[in-house]
Amino acid sequence: MKPEFIRNFSIIAHIDHGKSTLADQLLLKSGAITTREFQEQLLDDLDVERERGITVKARAVAIDYNYNGETYQLNFIDTPGHVDFHYEVSRSLAACEGALLVVDAFQGVQAQTVANAYAAIEADLEIIPVVNKIDLPVTRIDEVLEEVENIIGLDSSEAIQVSAKQGIGIEDCIEAIIKKIPAPKGNPEAPLKALVFDSKYDPFRGVVTYVRIVEGTLRKGDRIRFMRKKSVQDANEIGQFRPNMTACQSLGPGQAGYIITGEKVVGNISVGDTVTLQGEQAADPLPGYKSPKQMVYCGMYPIDSKDFEKLRDELERMSLNDASFSFIPETSDALGFGFRCGFLGMLHMEIIQQRLEREADVGLIQTAPNVTYELKLKSGEVVKLDNPADVPDSGQIEEFREPIARVTFILPASNIGSVMQLCADRRGEYKNTEYLGTDRAQLSYELPLAEIIYDMHDKLKSITRGYGTMDYEVIGFRDSDLVKLDILVKGMLVEALAQVVHRSTSERRGRATVKKLKEEIPKHQFEVALQAAIGARVIARETISALRKNVTAKCYGGDITRKRKLLEKQKEGKKRMKQFGQVEIPQKAFLSVLEAG
Ligand code: GDP
Ligand code: MG
Repeated sequence: MKPEFIRNFSIIAHIDHGKSTLADQLLLKSGAITTREFQEQLLDDLDVERERGITVKARAVAIDYNYNGETYQLNFIDTPGHVDFHYEVSRSLAACEGALLVVDAFQGVQAQTVANAYAAIEADLEIIPVVNKIDLPVTRIDEVLEEVENIIGLDSSEAIQVSAKQGIGIEDCIEAIIKKIPAPKGNPEAPLKALVFDSKYDPFRGVVTYVRIVEGTLRKGDRIRFMRKKSVQDANEIGQFRPNMTACQSLGPGQAGYIITGEKVVGNISVGDTVTLQGEQAADPLPGYKSPKQMVYCGMYPIDSKDFEKLRDELERMSLNDASFSFIPETSDALGFGFRCGFLGMLHMEIIQQRLEREADVGLIQTAPNVTYELKLKSGEVVKLDNPADVPDSGQIEEFREPIARVTFILPASNIGSVMQLCADRRGEYKNTEYLGTDRAQLSYELPLAEIIYDMHDKLKSITRGYGTMDYEVIGFRDSDLVKLDILVKGMLVEALAQVVHRSTSERRGRATVKKLKEEIPKHQFEVALQAAIGARVIARETISALRKNVTAKCYGGDITRKRKLLEKQKEGKKRMKQFGQVEIPQKAFLSVLEAG
């Protein structure tokens, strides 16, 4: 295929503005799928994505389209919109020359619209603004166009108005892609350089490597070399996603597709690597990508210690498809053998946890998530800290640094006061306010990451009745007055409940935590004391009184199904409990410490 007939583009948007729906329409209009096959959000094929309506793993699909008597090949890459997945977004953008920036005709420009647009500008892409959902009964199309112009700096007269849901304006959209997005450059005769932009594991075929050809031509059967990994393999099959995997004989400059070599271990293929020919090697590899930064950590332990190996196999399988997820074994006095897992953010963590529960039959205890800290010790050494249980004695610490994020809110002007109050409560540092029109504003803050990852988004949504959005980026580490808050259950230190908190809020957190635990831990045959402590000093205490009656006693002789149900419920609850000395602590209790704000 001649590069002049190829277009590579991404679709970027704030979440729910209609990327996936538009992607499906493009497939439909090009005939890649028939109306009968048209299934809502066809490209979101992971279960979790379908359920949550979000796109996690970027997809690359090739479609053919006839325009002015020529057949064009449009390669498009669907990207995730959530803040946790910035990394995947920038990776996808590196494989394109242009982007469709989808903006909801009612909601207008939102925090991730801005963040994604800036990422596209940085990647030097041609951006086509697309106003979607023009079929909605109430729209603000003129204001939205003004926002596109004022906030992002794009020429709004170039914007295309569509309804992805009803299939209106899709042809205009395709025409703009063909006319405005530059064709890829690259010489088909040059030594091969293909960028590995993703990989996934297929249980039947082994590793599927996603590539975008930058220079040269890749042919079926070629002996290829991964330049960074320095491994040599055979390209047994090459092809494109249309949207199903479809084999072909060759891929030329600008084309995106896949390679199957028979490789079984995803870890052996690294995203950002360059593929060249073993026979005729390129002089140097392509620039590649920055590695993803894991910012949120938690412990994952099997409830039954016999499941340790099984859990490890499952985590390994997860990480095969997701380079941004990491895990290393750790031991805890109370929880036994388990793993410390690293994620890009909270949503990423929830998704992995859900997949584990669905796909692996392993009962899990998950500890409350925490951010990464940096410690400067008195010895001069600087160490990273992923687990609150590992905080050294305070006498050894010179500086206790936490990650700081630059946070941008876009919200109705009438909510500015309440959101500023929220940020002040969370140790935020005000930066500035910009008005985007008469009644909307962009508010910037610097906030400790620990104060935003858990519930800031929910709080913002409730203050603004759903109209506020936020985006954040970690900008560095800063020294702060942090302390380790320990929790003792019946006199026993439960490391997995330890938290790092700011000294000014430690007493309040301590009191709230033991109170919350009192609600979550069931009564036992004996009294259970709950204490919060900093070092040797106990700062809060609660007591769970002893149990009196057997739960099923009151149904004695009565309704047998009710009794059975109760017992089953009890058993279900047991499954997610962990024994600490004599005390059983349910999974929910580990996470509840976070809610004790
Ligand atoms: P994404 O998160 O950007 O991928 O958004 P989706 O494509 O998943 O769409 C989010 C929601 O908006 C879904 O419920 C869609 O059905 C709906 N939606 C998408 N496009 C349109 C449109 O043109 N009009 C209307 N009324 N709804 C749309
Ligand atoms: Mg989507």
